[in-house]
Amino acid sequence: MSERTIFEKIVDGDIPARIVHETDTTLAFLDANPLAPGHTLVIPKEPYKRLRDTPPELTADVFEVVRELTPAIEDAVEADATNIGINDGPEAGQEVPHLHVHIVPRFKDDGGGPIHAVAGTAPNLDDDQLDAIAEEIQTTANI
Ligand code: AMP
Repeated sequence: MSERTIFEKIVDGDIPARIVHETDTTLAFLDANPLAPGHTLVIPKEPYKRLRDTPPELTADVFEVVRELTPAIEDAVEADATNIGINDGPEAGQEVPHLHVHIVPRFKDDGGGPIHAVAGTAPNLDDDQLDAIAEEIQTTANI
């Protein structure tokens, strides 16, 4: 059996967390190293590593909680806006291998940047390359 993730230990009540919301399938708690007041993580209780591993119904549960909590968090900490994101895979910065959505409240003049700041150097893609990428995604998605 693989080692439990730190978030499973929170779900199991074995380590403490500042829980802000719980459903049968999800848990939301404050990030221990907040990027802003109210920085919250929303997780499925079951420890799927990535979005691609997570069953659709559970993904829907997680995003419904994100939808409900975001304005509540903004109001609670008097934030002006919010960034919502997932580090989906180690190369994207994921450290805890248990899917989690970051809800990061933002404040006017807080010195932060937009989500566009997360990637490396922007590629210079011409129209043909963009067309090919769009077609490839459509074909692969097949949905
Ligand atoms: P990521 O890099 O997306 O995997 O982010 C993991 C997040 O989990 C970081 O923002 C950490 O501060 C946070 N974190 C790690 N351990 C705990 C914990 N015990 N309770 C709450 N948040 C945690």
